[in-house]
Amino acid sequence: MKKLALHWQILIGMFVGILVGLIFTQFSWGKQFVSDWIKPFGNIFINSLKLIAVPLILASLIKGVSDLKDISSLSKMGFRTITTYIITTLIAVSIGLVIVNIIQPGNSIDEKTRTELLEAYAGDAESKQKDAQNQKQKGPLQALEDLVPDNIIGAASSNGNMLQVIFFAIFFGIGLILIPEKNAKPVKDFFDGLNEVILKMIDIIMLAAPYGVFALMAALIVEAPSSDLIIALLYYSLSVIIGLALMIGVYMLIVKIFTNKSPKFFLNGISPAQLLAISTSSSAATLPVTMERVEEHLGVHRQVSSFVLPIGATINMDGTSLYQAVAAVFIAQAFGMDLTLGTQLGIIATATLASIGSAAVPGAGMVMLVIVLGQAGIPEAGLALIFAMDRPLDMLRTSVNVTGDAAVSMLVAKSQDKLGDPQVKDWDDNYKK
Ligand code: ASP
Repeated sequence: MKKLALHWQILIGMFVGILVGLIFTQFSWGKQFVSDWIKPFGNIFINSLKLIAVPLILASLIKGVSDLKDISSLSKMGFRTITTYIITTLIAVSIGLVIVNIIQPGNSIDEKTRTELLEAYAGDAESKQKDAQNQKQKGPLQALEDLVPDNIIGAASSNGNMLQVIFFAIFFGIGLILIPEKNAKPVKDFFDGLNEVILKMIDIIMLAAPYGVFALMAALIVEAPSSDLIIALLYYSLSVIIGLALMIGVYMLIVKIFTNKSPKFFLNGISPAQLLAISTSSSAATLPVTMERVEEHLGVHRQVSSFVLPIGATINMDGTSLYQAVAAVFIAQAFGMDLTLGTQLGIIATATLASIGSAAVPGAGMVMLVIVLGQAGIPEAGLALIFAMDRPLDMLRTSVNVTGDAAVSMLVAKSQDKLGDPQVKDWDDNYKK
């Protein structure tokens, strides 16, 4: 029998997980059972992916940078990558704003539901506000300061310091380009080998993906809040979902226009990473798979993917910025506020920055949303309104974040003449010659 493609296996895992979750919620002991006996497998799966995030970035980025022949091609690629990331984020925020202004989801919330939600989630919202308060107290150049670690072991010891690890890896790679070839070779060979090992580890972990995803979905379902509240927020979610879907359309267009690859080719190649993003809600946890798919199935040369994707996972969050724009305006609408054009333009700027600053972990976009709200003068307590829907929307926006990174990597690869045909297995070697 022909083996089912991985994305189908993952999809089946998701649906069976949802089904099992729904069945178990019918029993009084069901929730506890799922938390005790099913959820841990989901956590193990996510942990094993996170486990290889730091070594993956170190190995692949050092290899990627040192494979570049000189510093000028590095800065050219860096410039292209960052500008494209910022442009796609601006497009995403703008789409979000247009949609939320057309649908006006906040106006459909009645007084009773609003009070109910505010009461139910007041505690959670407060803790998010505190996190954001800490962020705000930092100076304007704090983000820049945070980029440079004072100890690489310290930085690499937490998955929350990806940008610091990236900084170190690029710096190390530059050093490697600048020393004599003879001395650089053994170091490069080591990182080449390390890279191979880690990619193999990802392959092995992915064999367990359908089961991991099953466990994660079942746990999510039994922990979901009451369905009344979810229905009350349908319009808001719909606005975010329509926006995210349009964004996927934008990526397909970008890929078609700039690389002449069909939307089907693009989606087929990236879909396992999208599905994994949906079940982990974390671009960082999805990164290993995004890299594998982009290289092996979309034909992006490793030199490009190893540079563009880790950076994208941390700073390019189009789905998050779109969600932040919709959520901010939705909350304002729900409180009966009228936002001026000036305020909405301000949201474009803050949501872009806030999405860049969001960590690639579940729920990070919501923490940073507080900053967008604060800047626009929207009551932060409104966070409580959208709390119930955050996780499902986080799943979807993370998937868009990952898709955006992949699309941009193809575009940058094309512009560097590093986009090959994934069917031709040895094209990678041809490039090296
Ligand atoms: N979960 C998102 C990500 O990892 C970030 C967020 O929007 O919360 O990409």
